Amino acid sequence: MSGRTYDVAITGGGLAGSTLGGVLARAGRNVVIVERERHFRDRIRAEFTWPWGCAEIERLGLSSVFESIDALPMERMDEYLDGAYNRTIAIEPRPGVTYQHAALQEALLSWARDQGAEVIQPARALRFKPDARPEIRIDRDGTEEAIVARLVVAATGRESGAWTWTGGESVIDPEHHRFGGVLIEGANFPDGSLLLGQSSPEQALLFSLGHGFARLYLRTFDDILQETGLARSFDVMLEYVRSWFTPEVLADARQAGPLGFFPNSNTWATKLTAPGIALIGDVAGSADPSGGHGTSLVFRDVRTLSDLLLGSEDWDMALETFAGERHAYFEVIRARDHWYGEVAAGRGPEGEERRARQANARELDPTLGGFGAIEFLGPDGLTPDEEHRRIYFGEHISPDGLVTRS
Ligand SMILES: Cc1cc2nc3c(=O)[nH]c(=O)nc-3n(C[C@H](O)[C@H](O)[C@H](O)COP(=O)(O)OP(=O)(O)OC[C@H]3O[C@@H](n4cnc5c(N)ncnc54)[C@H](O)[C@@H]3O)c2cc1C
Repeated sequence: MSGRTYDVAITGGGLAGSTLGGVLARAGRNVVIVERERHFRDRIRAEFTWPWGCAEIERLGLSSVFESIDALPMERMDEYLDGAYNRTIAIEPRPGVTYQHAALQEALLSWARDQGAEVIQPARALRFKPDARPEIRIDRDGTEEAIVARLVVAATGRESGAWTWTGGESVIDPEHHRFGGVLIEGANFPDGSLLLGQSSPEQALLFSLGHGFARLYLRTFDDILQETGLARSFDVMLEYVRSWFTPEVLADARQAGPLGFFPNSNTWATKLTAPGIALIGDVAGSADPSGGHGTSLVFRDVRTLSDLLLGSEDWDMALETFAGERHAYFEVIRARDHWYGEVAAGRGPEGEERRARQANARELDPTLGGFGAIEFLGPDGLTPDEEHRRIYFGEHISPDGLVTRS
C-alpha cells in the first residue's frame, strides 16, 4: 500500500472505471483504480459502440486508444430478411466502432496508468465506509487493506452489488427477451458492416472484430432457448441462425469463445450518489444489451462526471448535478429500450402490426421523433413521455394517414 490519500479511488477497472481514472489522472488528480481481474477475458460483453458513444469517445480524447487495438469503423447495417439480402442502412452522421472487449479493457487500463493513475490489480473491493474521509476496504492477496480518498467511485458493473454503498436499492425491469452470443472465426462478410439477420421477431447480429474474429449475437426468447438448447450448444445455435443470412456468411464459422445468453432487462440503482461516493457505468444503470447503448452510457457518464469534478471544487454539488443528469439521460435510453422491445421483438400478430405501423411512421419521419435515431444522435433533448411513445409506435398516424397530436 502506498500510504497516499487519493483524490479519487475507483473500484472496477472495466471501461467505465479505467476511462474515468485516466481522464482524472490526465488532469493532475491523484487517482487509484482497484481491479479484481489479473487479466481480462471474453465475458460476452460490448464489442460495438454506436455513433453517439463515438462522439463521447472523441470528446474524451480516447480515439488513439481505440486505434491502438485496431478497432474498426462500423459504417453500415446490411439487413437480411429470412436469408435474402434486403437493404443497406448507412450509419450516420459518423460511423460506429467495433473492437474486442477484453483488448479494449486492457488498453484503457494501461492508458489510465500512462496518464498517472495507480492501478491495484488484482485486488477486490470489499466495502465502502462513509465518513468525512471516505474509505474503501480491499482484499489484495488475501490481506485486507484500507484506501482513503476524497471521493470513491464504484464502477464494478451490474452484478457487483455496489449500489448498496449509496444507501439505495437496485431495480430490475421485467424480462422481455434474451440476448447473447459467441465469438466466432471463419465468418465470411466484409469489415465495416453490421449484418442484421431478421427472422422476426428474432434477430441475429454479426459484425467483424478484425484479426479474423467476429461476434455473432442472437435476440430471442427464454422459451425458445429452453426448447432448442441453443444456449448450451454452438452447433445448435449456428444451425438455428445460419439460414437467416446468405449461405456463404456462416458456412465456415467456428466457435472461438464462450457462449452465453442474458435477460434484456434494464437495471438501475435508485440512488446514484451519496456524500463521498458516486456510481457510474453498469452499476449505476445498465441498458438492455440488445439495444447496444451500454458503452455509450459509460463514456457519457465519464464525461459528465469528470467535467463536473474538474470544473468545480464543490464536489457535493458536482455529485448532485451528476445524479440528476445521469438519471435524465438513462431514462431516455430505458424508455427507448422498452419501446424497442415491444416493437422489434413483439411476438404474434400484435408484434407484426406494431412493426408495420412503425415502418409506416418512419416514412414520414425516419427518426420517429428522435427515439428511432438515438443510436446515431444520442438521448439529448428527448423526453420519454406518452407523446414520444405514440410517435415511436406510429400511433399518431390515423388509418387514413393523418398525423394527430395528443
Ligand atoms: C451480452 C451483452 C452484450 C452487450 N453488447 C453491447 C454492445 O454491443 N454495445 C454496448 O454499448 N454495450 C453492450 N453491452 C453492455 C456493456 O457490456 C456494458 O454496458 C459495459 O461493459 C459496462 O462497463 P462497466 O465498466 O460499467 O462494467 P463492467 O464491464 O462489468 O466492468 C466492471 C469491472 O469491475 C471489476 N470488478 C467487479 N467487481 C469488483 C470488485 N469487487 N473489486 C474490484 N473490481 C471489481 C470487473 O472485473 C470489471 O473489470 C452488452 C452487455 C451484454 C451483457
